Amino acid sequence: MLTCRPSPYRTVTFEDFKFNEHLLEGVLSMGFTTPTPIQEMAIPIILAGNDIIACAQTGTGKTGAYLLPVLDHISKTNKHQISTLVLAPTRELAQQIDQQVEGLAYFTGVSSIAVFGGGDGSAYEQQRRGIQNNVNIIIATPGRLIAHLTSGVLKLNHLTHLVLDEADRMLDMGFQDDIMKIISYLPKTRQTMLFSATMPGRIRSLAKAILNNPQSVNIAVSQPAVGIDQQIYRVHDQQKTPLLQMLLKNGSYASVIIFASRKEIVKSLAKELKGMHLKVSAFHSDLEQKEREEILLNFKNKQLPVIIGTDALSRGIDVEGIDLVINYDVPGDPEDYIHRIGRTARAETTGTAITFVNHRDERKLKSIEQLIDKPIRLIAVPDELAGIQQAARPEHSPNKRPQQRRWGNKSKPKKA
Ligand code: AMP
Repeated sequence: MLTCRPSPYRTVTFEDFKFNEHLLEGVLSMGFTTPTPIQEMAIPIILAGNDIIACAQTGTGKTGAYLLPVLDHISKTNKHQISTLVLAPTRELAQQIDQQVEGLAYFTGVSSIAVFGGGDGSAYEQQRRGIQNNVNIIIATPGRLIAHLTSGVLKLNHLTHLVLDEADRMLDMGFQDDIMKIISYLPKTRQTMLFSATMPGRIRSLAKAILNNPQSVNIAVSQPAVGIDQQIYRVHDQQKTPLLQMLLKNGSYASVIIFASRKEIVKSLAKELKGMHLKVSAFHSDLEQKEREEILLNFKNKQLPVIIGTDALSRGIDVEGIDLVINYDVPGDPEDYIHRIGRTARAETTGTAITFVNHRDERKLKSIEQLIDKPIRLIAVPDELAGIQQAARPEHSPNKRPQQRRWGNKSKPKKA
């Protein structure tokens, strides 16, 4: 495998890729002026027809890195068949990719459809009709795609390009068998592109099984964007909510995401902040798909300034201009920290990421600092909050863990 680095000597432009002129028009109309590093490295490889395995997080421009060469290929060839399948872990990500296709391909006549589960029978019917309506690109979550494949509605015999986006998250969500089943429906000769935020052994094995002599691209191992001002507050549990309230009240932030580790905390925090007359919504798995979409849309349109969610929100939410991310607690996996704070300072803007660290989370903080290879700036807790006493037994703290059976009767983990 070959590892590529962006050229240190000159700035590559989108014109250098010799894209179809209508595609170039779309790129410019999206406000993309210069390729991001992952685009600079991956686009020539894909344009040359090679398989690729790329390690890149959300926020780096990875979607454009595979969509642009694929769109270029379609706009220069046959537009009357399904040539490309993009597999994504969540419906939110599938919809966002579909929106990027819409923007980039606006002047090319290339069309796409997002296919995902949930919704009622009419959504399924709508997708079924869409699939039969001469689309070029299908962007799908694995489960729903299989339903269309096995029903015989969808035939992918002319497929030339397969993309696996956020492959690590797809494996985390248990989609490995579904992915292999989908691949059994595809032509053996095709170009396959695998994008993943992390590269654990499981991803390498998957790559071995489905990629053909791939070139490898790695943009700096999971590092947060340089524009993010990272800060920590060392607090105890009783200080967390007052500190959060103070930060929101005193700061002039227009668009804020708050992450918490469990949906019970998400719900309880949303209640407390609403009590302060803040416009805030909780985003979690108990909501209907429609409600989740509405919250994301309002947040994207800047009608909703504050959103609170679990890590389910940290992947795939593609919103410009988020200026503050608050980690109400430290995520267990250091990679999740990078995903969470990557929601701000997207595509080379700036933003702030604040993490509340209690004594139980010190070890997790250490792992994060090891991963990002630097200490995070410590900010002193404001004097007004210093006097808040730590509860002897945090019975009513929203941070309290759910009751566990004593004798090792493991209960099924709940969905985030
Ligand atoms: P992604 O990593 O694909 O989720 O992209 C993150 C954000 O960067 C999206 O909002 C894209 O629209 C934006 N973006 C992608 N490529 C570029 C580019 N070359 N210049 C500016 N913004 C970009």
